[in-house]
Amino acid sequence: MSDTTRFLLNETDLPRQWYNILADSPVPLPPVLHPVTKEPVTPDFLSVLFPMELILQEVSTDRYIDIPEEVREIYKLYRPTPLVRARRLEKMLGTPAHIYYKNESVSPVGSHKANTAIPQAFYNKVAGTKAITTETGAGQWGAALSMACNFFDIALEVYMVKVSYEQKPYRRIFMETYGAQVYASPTDRTQFGRALLEQDPSNRGSLGIAISEAVEAAATSGGSKKYSLGSVLNHVLLHQTVIGEEALKQMDMAGEYPDVVIGCVGGGSNFGGIALPFLRENLRNGQRTRLLAVEPTAAPSLTKGIYTYDYGDTARMAPIVKMHTLGHTFLPPGIHAGGLRYHGMAPLISALYEAGYLEARAVPQVATFEAARLFTQAEGFLPAPESAHAIRAAIDEALDAKAKGEKRVILFNLSGHGHFDMMAYQEYLAGRLEDYAYPAEAVAQAMQSLPQVETEVTAAD
Ligand SMILES: *Cc1c(COP(=O)(O)O)cnc(C)c1O
Repeated sequence: MSDTTRFLLNETDLPRQWYNILADSPVPLPPVLHPVTKEPVTPDFLSVLFPMELILQEVSTDRYIDIPEEVREIYKLYRPTPLVRARRLEKMLGTPAHIYYKNESVSPVGSHKANTAIPQAFYNKVAGTKAITTETGAGQWGAALSMACNFFDIALEVYMVKVSYEQKPYRRIFMETYGAQVYASPTDRTQFGRALLEQDPSNRGSLGIAISEAVEAAATSGGSKKYSLGSVLNHVLLHQTVIGEEALKQMDMAGEYPDVVIGCVGGGSNFGGIALPFLRENLRNGQRTRLLAVEPTAAPSLTKGIYTYDYGDTARMAPIVKMHTLGHTFLPPGIHAGGLRYHGMAPLISALYEAGYLEARAVPQVATFEAARLFTQAEGFLPAPESAHAIRAAIDEALDAKAKGEKRVILFNLSGHGHFDMMAYQEYLAGRLEDYAYPAEAVAQAMQSLPQVETEVTAAD
């Protein structure tokens, strides 16, 4: 074992292929259903929103998919990302555990979301797309896609949740600097947005609403605009596997292998990105790494949600998918990890969790910021509030190892930095943050508005 702190790969080590878990998954994915007919969707339906290459990736069962050279060239602006041994954090905790983190915060936009924004813009460019619509919550995804669309000369229309648009102007300005058009959702640009504003002019929006508006804007554009989603879908998780593929090589350089791999989960993409290549090693090469997804107690889709068919968005225009859900009517409490407030979970992560291949844990907000502060003081990097959920769990694993006198190798994904989240840190430092556990009764209530889906469809896969 070396005394190295950062494990760095060369540009030539940048992965040439993404890993597709669908080739190895022991559990099949239930079909995706049309929101109105509730029949399995056809590529034709999806092609209104997505370029064909991404639709093919969505359903592919090939184990590896080549990363286009044009995408690798842009990845090289920040990849391979460093794997870091958190030696100072280990010391601070007095733990025999070894803690490693993969630093995805070094991308130009400060998060892992660039890993899928770049190929999504590329495949759209190849298909001749001139304009894309998307939604963004806190602005991480919007910023990543703004950068990617700028590189490929595609116009971008971003529907940004109004409360974030007002409270977090800096990411909006970031997006606009790349050339994107940013609108506070609900807007008066869509039928759905106008209807909501008529009911309640002070509606401050949600991610589900912003998705509905972006989908509507693309679907009613007469083919001139496509739509892009930054998490949840199979092809998004596929693109994120560059994280885990690099981490496998870097753990090898460190001469260790993780006992547990940890990621925070909003829609499931950064966790899937780091964990799924390790799941392949579990399934195919006899490794036994625990794979731990961490979510906020305020939006606990895996630990408190129900595994069932639900709409992907509030307006019930997006496809119906089987996933762990808090209900598409979910109105997220105002926690500061904006990227973790989606009502559902990636169908892939849901199916693998349901079948016992993944673990999940919910952590409360205050303890999460406590972990973020500890990490910042030990390692110097100030994490995104989302990423701090993974840090909380990594610290808890290290403390558990200490209590049991075990040497444990822990790897977590630092999905992004928190430089645009200073208001949240200020609230934390002032002692004004509160914990909130989303009530099980609210989940039960929301289940009454689930789509009515024939049980045969569920069984037919
Ligand atoms: C968006 C975001 C997340 C959550 O999304 P996933 O798809 O679950 O990865 C986590 N961390 C950061 C920094 C994000 O921007």
